[in-house]
Amino acid sequence: MDATKGVRLRLFQILVVLLAVPLAPGPLWAQGSPSEVIEGEYLVKFKPAAFGQVLGKLRGKAQLKGSFAQKGMYHLSNTDASLLEELRADPDVLYVEPNYRLQTITGDAQGQAVSAEEIQSTQSYTQSGAPVKAVEAWARSAAYDANNRPIVAIIDTGLDSNHYVFRQTNSLWVNTREIPGNGIDDDFNGYVDDVSGWNFITNSPNFFDDEDHGTHVAGIVLGATQNILAPQADLEPAKVRLMPLKFLDANGSGSTSAAISAMYYAVNMGAKVINCSWGGGSYSRALHDAITYAYEHGVIVVTAAGNYSNNNDVTPMYPANYDVPSNLSVAATGDSDRLASFSNYGASKVQIGAPGVYVYSTLPGGYFLSLSGTSMAAPFVAGAAAMAAREAPNMSGYQLRSMMIGTADAVSYLSGKVSSSGRVNLNNLLGVAQGQVSTSSYQPAYKPDYSADRSPASDAGAPAGCGLVSSVAGAGWGLGGGGSGGGGMAPGTVTGILFLLPFLLWVALRLRSPKDQRRFDRYIMQSDLIIKSGDRQLVGTIKTISMGGLSFDVDEALERGGTIQMKVLGPDGREAIEVEGRIVWSEQNQSYGVQFSSVREQAKAVLFGWTRHLVRQE
Ligand code: CA
Repeated sequence: MDATKGVRLRLFQILVVLLAVPLAPGPLWAQGSPSEVIEGEYLVKFKPAAFGQVLGKLRGKAQLKGSFAQKGMYHLSNTDASLLEELRADPDVLYVEPNYRLQTITGDAQGQAVSAEEIQSTQSYTQSGAPVKAVEAWARSAAYDANNRPIVAIIDTGLDSNHYVFRQTNSLWVNTREIPGNGIDDDFNGYVDDVSGWNFITNSPNFFDDEDHGTHVAGIVLGATQNILAPQADLEPAKVRLMPLKFLDANGSGSTSAAISAMYYAVNMGAKVINCSWGGGSYSRALHDAITYAYEHGVIVVTAAGNYSNNNDVTPMYPANYDVPSNLSVAATGDSDRLASFSNYGASKVQIGAPGVYVYSTLPGGYFLSLSGTSMAAPFVAGAAAMAAREAPNMSGYQLRSMMIGTADAVSYLSGKVSSSGRVNLNNLLGVAQGQVSTSSYQPAYKPDYSADRSPASDAGAPAGCGLVSSVAGAGWGLGGGGSGGGGMAPGTVTGILFLLPFLLWVALRLRSPKDQRRFDRYIMQSDLIIKSGDRQLVGTIKTISMGGLSFDVDEALERGGTIQMKVLGPDGREAIEVEGRIVWSEQNQSYGVQFSSVREQAKAVLFGWTRHLVRQE
C-alpha cells in the first residue's frame, strides 16, 4: 500500500494505532537452528521524537503495524531493505530488531486425556509426590476474600473458559469496566469488549484455546491455589483470578510483538503475576523492555527455563534469561526432586525448581491430561506467587521473587543447577508471607543493559526485504484508564497530557444519547475548522460531526512532517480551541487520523459545553 497517495484524513474519530499480530503459519522454532523471525517485520525503538518525524522516516518503505508510542517503539511490516539500512545508520534509532518467533515449551504427555470422572476417582491432588506442601498451604492461607484475588496473566495459547474447573471456581478475571458484546471499548484501554482476556492474534476478545497448552498451564496456576481435581461440586471459589492472553497459535507459535502487547496489557490491567511458559533463543531488547515495564509496576514474571537439557548460563533462553530483578526462571523437577531429564538449568540464570513431570491439569473440552515440561513447572510457581501476594499484598514482584527463592526447600539434586538450589515449598512461602503483611513495597532501581545481548542475530538475523503479511487486524487506541500510572504504556493507552480530542467529543455524544444509538450517529454542529500544516492553512466549516468524522487530503500534512495545528470555532463563532496533532495511521480503519497531544484542560470543558445542545441529525 502506498501510504502517500489517496489517503484521507478522518477527524473526530477514535484513533488507532495497532499492534496487529501477523502470524502466518510457519516452521516452528527449533533448538539449535537460527531463531525464526517473521519475515519483513521489525521492532524499532527511537529516541524521543515527534510521531510525525518517525512517520516521515518510515513513509513508503514499511507499513506501520503497531505502535508503543509512549515507549518510542514501532512495529513495522513489509520493511524495505533500504529502510533497514537507513534505520541502522540513524542516530535517532536506539535499536531495530527482527520480530522473533516464540514457541510453547512443552514436553511429553503421559497416557490419554481423561474425563472428570476418571480423574476424580484416581487422583489425590498435590501436583507432585515431592513435598511442595500445597495442601498445608491452602489450609493456612487467608480465607476467601472477593476483594483480595490477585490476577495471574497467562500469556499463552488461550483458555477453554467453559471447562467446569474454571467455571465452577469462577476463576476468570473479569474486566468490570467493559460491557460485554456492545462493540464499544467501554474502558478506553484500546481493546473492544475485552471482558475476560484478549486474543492478540486475531485482535478479538475470543481467546479460545486451539492448542491445549494454555488451558493446561492455567489449570496448574489454579491448581497451586486449590484442589482442581476435586469433584465438581466440591470446587471452591478461586482465591486468584486468571487473565488469559492468547498470542500463541494452534501450532504453539507466536510473535515477539504480540507477546509484548500481551505483557503491556497484563500490567496495565492489573496483573500481579505474569506466567510465560514459552520462549526462544533470541535476545529481544523490545521484550526485555516489556519485562522491565512489568518490573517497574511491581509485577513478578515467571518464566519456563526450557526443555532442552541445556545450561542456560551457556546457551541462553528467553525470556527466562532476562536479568530483570522480578523475573523468576523455573526448572522442572520430578516426584523425588531430581531435576527432570529434559529440563534446562543454570546456576546463575535459573532460580528455582518446581514440579514439572507428569502433571495432571485441565484440557479443553472438560478433560484432563498429564503433561511434562518446564511449561508445567512455571505455572505452579506463578500460582504460588499469587497466593503469597494475597498474604502480603504490598509486596513488589521483586520482593515476592526474593521470598520464593528464600523459602525454597534445599534439594541436593538442584545444587549447582538453580541459583537457590531449591524446590518451591508453598507452605514455607505462605508462612513467611504471613509475617510480611505490613511490609511495604520495595525494589531497587533497574535499567536494562542491552549489551548483555549475547545473540549476534539480534541486529542482523533477519532477511531484509518485503515479506508477505497474511493478515492485518487490530485493536483500538483509547484513553488510558483514569490517567494514573503514567510511564510507558501499552499501545493505545495515553497519559494525562496526551489525549484525544475526538475521544472527548465521542464521550460527550454518548452522554447525550440514548444507549441504543448507533455508533456513528451524526450531530448538527456549526463551527469553523482551520487546519494548519506548515505554512499552509485550510479553512472549512463543520456542519455535522460524528465519530466517523470528515475527510480531506492528507498528503500535504505528511509532507510537513505529519504535524498539524487545528482550530475549532465553537457554535457561537467566537470561542475557539486550538490544538496540535500528529497524523497517525490506523490499521483497523485503514485510514489516517489525527492524534492530539496538547489539548488543554479548559478545552475539555469547552468541548463539553459545546456539545450540550447538540441535536441528532435524522
Ligand atoms: Ca476495553
